[in-house]
Amino acid sequence: MKTQTKADLFRELPSVDELTRSLGFRSLAKTHGNIAVTDAARAVLAELRQQISSGRLDASSLRLALEGINGAIEKQVRKSLSPSLRTVINATGVILHTNLGRAPIGEAAIRHISQTATHYSNLEFDVASGERGKRDVHVDRLFRKLLGAESSDVATIVVNNNAAAVLLALNTLAEGGEVIVSRGELVEIGGSFRIPDVMAKSGAKLCEVGTTNRTRTSDYEKAITERTRLLLRVHRSNFEITGFTEQPSTAELVALAKKRGIPLMEDLGSGALVDLTNFGLSKETTVLDSLRSGVDIVTYSGDKLLGGPQAGLISGLLELVARMRSNSLFRALRVDKLTYAALEATLLAYVKHEYEAIPTLAMMSLTRDEIGRRAEALLEAVRSRQGTLKLEVIDGDSVVGGGAAPSSVLPTRLIAITSASLSADEFSARLRSFDPPIVARVEQGRVLLDLRTVFRAQDPQLAAALGHIQ
Ligand SMILES: *Cc1c(COP(=O)(O)O)cnc(C)c1O
Repeated sequence: MKTQTKADLFRELPSVDELTRSLGFRSLAKTHGNIAVTDAARAVLAELRQQISSGRLDASSLRLALEGINGAIEKQVRKSLSPSLRTVINATGVILHTNLGRAPIGEAAIRHISQTATHYSNLEFDVASGERGKRDVHVDRLFRKLLGAESSDVATIVVNNNAAAVLLALNTLAEGGEVIVSRGELVEIGGSFRIPDVMAKSGAKLCEVGTTNRTRTSDYEKAITERTRLLLRVHRSNFEITGFTEQPSTAELVALAKKRGIPLMEDLGSGALVDLTNFGLSKETTVLDSLRSGVDIVTYSGDKLLGGPQAGLISGLLELVARMRSNSLFRALRVDKLTYAALEATLLAYVKHEYEAIPTLAMMSLTRDEIGRRAEALLEAVRSRQGTLKLEVIDGDSVVGGGAAPSSVLPTRLIAITSASLSADEFSARLRSFDPPIVARVEQGRVLLDLRTVFRAQDPQLAAALGHIQ
């Protein structure tokens, strides 16, 4: 028998029209509707066409696929009618993984969101007086506690994310004027946040000083004119400059700002609320450190080291923050009640020192030994069925991510996997095909799983997946 060419195989595919006239199609359409099932049929045919043209489908497997085409269409319909946003298991060991939703939030935050979302609330209502209130009072009171209760002249407002916080602050404090920034701090953060671009959108003019590796206080001082509105320092969240380098200390910049009567703003990016050396991290400037040293305005994210919901926080001098609150941009960038609820619950955990209730902090505080024991137990569960897989537990590093110092790593134990029949990339694709998908690291031809970022309750799902692949 002559082998069939791709053109022959393509001819065996039914048209969408033919499919819609079939009995199987009509019964599916009764349940799911004509449009959804037609779309699904198109997607299934497109997938088969793709498989034929890439040579992955021969005549006999095409025949099998066509016999089961109604099942495939039904599966496709169900997929298209279920949520696209779903849980994944993060086995990468990157705690603040921007592509995987950054910080997971805790149970208390979820309960507070649920209460707030399903009932009416005092979001902008002063219960005592019966008058209209302000939505930011709910978290400002907690920020005051965390950022030094003694300083009643420090206020905090919340916007959609830190990019919005920087935009609002620059627009309020420097529109039409100049902002001085070191050339070593003109950063780009993932997702197209670039300091020069945000500056342009804010209506402020960027005045670059110094060089990539060296900037001195005198560089800032020489650049100050009557048009200068702000000195800006930006945290180098995702890179390091090493070697022949120089940067003024915060104290020096504060002294210059005070001498010339110009506000100093620091975009901290990650913005830890507590000293994270207690959680095994290298020293990071906290929001409180920055304010205490005399910085006037600090901007930071809610879902990075803080471990809360996506939000941008602006903490600083009451008078400057009040100007930002009355800027009409603030109205456009404000956050909803669900964000306030999640943020309030997260801040309450900080106030009560219940750090274990904040998932990202809990993950940071897991020790290498605890993670190692879990990894061994997981392998024990898989090993009895171990076929073609080589599984071992090795030393490695977890990554904090999310704009903590790029060198912020925590010692961990990794499950390293090599398969006799699958490449590391193929193996990690198989892991992603589970429900929930498992996202792993691939390094030097091996698949690596770090349980630091896997919730304990997900360990059995991971073991089941490993048992299944071999
Ligand atoms: C992450 C980061 C931003 C952007 O924050 P988002 O909350 O993602 O908008 C801005 N500046 C710095 C220094 C950052 O690290």
